[in-house]
This record gives sequence, C-alpha cells and structure tokens, in this order.
Amino acid sequence: MTRTEDDQGADDVEKRVIETSGLTRVYGRGDVAVHALRGIDMTVDPGEFVALMGASGSGKSTLMNILGCLDRPTEGSYVLEGEDVSQLNKDKLAGIRNRRIGFVFQSYNLLPRLTALKNVMLPLMYNGHQSLSKGEMRERAVSVLEAVGLGDRIDHRPNELSGGEQQRVAIARALVNDPSLVLADEPTGNLDSKSGDEIMALLRQLHRSGATIVMVTHSAHDAAKAQRIMALRDGRVTARDLGVEAARRLESVTSLEGEAR
Ligand code: ADP
Ligand code: MG
Repeated sequence: MTRTEDDQGADDVEKRVIETSGLTRVYGRGDVAVHALRGIDMTVDPGEFVALMGASGSGKSTLMNILGCLDRPTEGSYVLEGEDVSQLNKDKLAGIRNRRIGFVFQSYNLLPRLTALKNVMLPLMYNGHQSLSKGEMRERAVSVLEAVGLGDRIDHRPNELSGGEQQRVAIARALVNDPSLVLADEPTGNLDSKSGDEIMALLRQLHRSGATIVMVTHSAHDAAKAQRIMALRDGRVTARDLGVEAARRLESVTSLEGEAR
C-alpha cells in the first residue's frame, strides 16, 4: 500500500482496531424477532487482549460475527482500523475479513481431507496474495506452523492430530495472513484443561508479540489470561474491565444457567 506524507502523520496516532457505536442485531422480524444485540459501544486498542464473557444467549457469538465481518449489524456503526465497515456489501466484507481478520473457533473448523499444511495455506490462496508463489505460500505456512509448535506435524490430517494440536493448526491458519485482529470464540471449549492451558499460553505469547485479540470464554481461568475482561448480558455490555474475582462469580452464575437448560 502506498502512503502519502499526510496519512503518515495520521498514522502517528495509532488507530483503534475496533470502535463500535450503538450496534444492534435483530434476527427475524415481527413476533419472532430476536434482539441479540441491543446497542453495543466498545473499543479495542492495538495490541489489546480482551476476553468477552456472558451467559449463553447473551450475544457473544453474534457480536464476534459482526466484529469478524461475517455478519452486519441491523443498526449502529462498526469502525475497523478507521474504516466504517458496517454498511459494506457482502463482497467487500469478505475481502476485509480475508485480509484483516483471523478466526479461531471452538470446533477448530479445519478441512478434514487436507493436511495441516494445506489447511494453513488455504487463506493465502484466497486472499489476493497472487504475488506469492506456491512455494512462498508453503514456506510461510510452514513457518507459522513451526511457530505454534507443529513443525513436525505439517503433513498430518486433522483426524491424526489431538484436539489441542488441531486448535494449534487453526491458530496458525488464523495468523498466516498476519491479521490486524484475531477473534477466538471459546477456543478452549472442546479441550481438556492441559491442552486448554497450552492454547491459552499460545494466545498470550501472540499477545506479547503484538497481536490484537478478542476471545470469548466461559472460563474465568482463561479470561484471567487476557488483559481486560468485558461482560455481556442480554445483548448489552455490563462491564468493560471486570476484575478476575467478579469474572469468577460471573462464571459460576453462567454455568448454573447452563445446567438449568
Ligand atoms: P452466545 O454466543 O452468547 O451464546 P448468540 O450470539 O449465539 O449468544 O445468541 C444471542 C441470541 O440470538 C440468542 O437468543 C440466540 O438464540 C439468538 N440467535 C443467534 N443466532 C440466531 C439466528 N441465526 N437466528 C435467530 N436467532 C439467533
Ligand atoms: Mg456463542
């Protein structure tokens, strides 16, 4: 990207990665309308690691989908690195998502027939890196897999890897494009506590190396690894910087709600 001297000046003031104002998301209409988000104002600065907690149904995934440009708000604005993306059409949104966002899901979402290496190379092939040769893509994918500790597993398929290893592949895939924002929706939700702790250690390491991360979690133990804890309830923000003790209380309340289902 070419920059003029003028916008270099603007770059000195680091742009917020996320700035939302009055975000709402209504699913359906009329009698069956579900108000999943009811006016979310939030900001995330470059290099922040934010955990997002809240009971099941509070709107966490809906918010992550909008932040990740997978979905658009019904109303309100979402400014991603200084650009209002809330009204962009699907193609534009997909382009932004591919270039700037890395996703990590609870269920890994790897393609089962592809090796770890191919899974990680995939975003490079889709992402307008036409300038990279296949060999360069491979090199880049290998180096990210090495960085997540899987240098010796690159030719394994997902079913030949443990859950923790699969999630590492998913993290490598999220990072291969060098995204501005990493979004993780319950990344340890399917893992035993040891593998979960390893994934959290990896996310912390990413954060220390400068990544901006928003992570949904039900676990106060995991949330404590973030820099700041936000809480949602019924589609509204109830805390922007929850203490770890309060997060533990929230966890016990939300897990009781889970059991009641
Ligand atoms: P969380 O991730 O916190 O559990 P969600 O964002 O998934 O919450 O859901 C928030 C609310 O929106 C819930 O009431 C849920 O049932 C509803 N919801 C989520 N996705 C859809 C959808 N595609 N269509 C209709 N309602 C939905
Ligand atoms: Mg969810």
